[in-house]
Amino acid sequence: MTEPKFRNKSVCVTGGARGLGAVIARRFAIAGAHVHVADLLDEEVQALGRSLRDEGLLATAHRLDVADEADWEKLVAAIDAAGAGLDVLVNNAGIIIRKPLMQTSKSEWDRVMSVNVAGIFLGMKHCRSLLVEAAPSAIVNVSSTAGIIAHDDPSYTASKWAVRGLTKSAALEFSADRIRVNSIHPAMIATPLTFAAPEGHMEANRAMIPMGREARPDEIANIVLFLASDHASFMTGSEVTADGGLTTGGVAHARKRVQTEIQQR
Ligand code: NAD
Repeated sequence: MTEPKFRNKSVCVTGGARGLGAVIARRFAIAGAHVHVADLLDEEVQALGRSLRDEGLLATAHRLDVADEADWEKLVAAIDAAGAGLDVLVNNAGIIIRKPLMQTSKSEWDRVMSVNVAGIFLGMKHCRSLLVEAAPSAIVNVSSTAGIIAHDDPSYTASKWAVRGLTKSAALEFSADRIRVNSIHPAMIATPLTFAAPEGHMEANRAMIPMGREARPDEIANIVLFLASDHASFMTGSEVTADGGLTTGGVAHARKRVQTEIQQR
């Protein structure tokens, strides 16, 4: 299979200033797309836009809070002004608070839901007309293994399960428009979100993942580019795990390790 190509394509990546989003944005730009990188962190996203342009790539940076409908209206107007519609929307922005249910305040719950769920709902709703203009087109929503199994953070878990359902429902609604909608479900990825986790988090996660390691952001970006490309032309409403075997057998893997430790005592 040849590398997906995005020459003359217009792509928008949310949460693109850093972490997974920045790697996805760079990969689309290298593949020939005009990338609209959008993020709440205005200075960081503008710096990324400049650095991509300095490399001779096509990139425009935008300040966007995905939870703010007025911000989406501005972003869509700016992409529309560039004149090529929108071939791909990657709803990547996401946050996590890492708190158990009893320590989660209503405002924390609301913020996680508004960024992780409403942010994707608004993105799909406001970008639909641009995606129709460019059809066949594609949306890739970034969920998590926390949208397949449970994470010990109920607001994050509920939000990522919601992304999975929202994706399937949108896939049905948009199929007549020739817009494919799929979700990706990574396990731990080496990004600032993971590096900010409490001590021991990465080691404990590695012990649960049969492949014994976190993903590199480019390994997840590969799948996003695939889902956005014509190579995935018959895929819509799919949930694609990229998790080193975690959801397939993380429990059996951990049991085997603990059992071996017990036997060696
Ligand atoms: P990150 O924190 O490293 O980067 C997230 C980016 O999103 C940042 O640039 C941030 O400024 C931006 N952002 C946050 N809130 C925003 C908002 N309201 N509007 C616009 N931009 C906003 O996180 P990451 O690890 O790169 O995560 C990217 C996506 O991958 C998220 O949806 C996350 O839930 C998902 N994910 C991450 C992991 C992991 O282990 N890192 C695993 C599975 C899924």
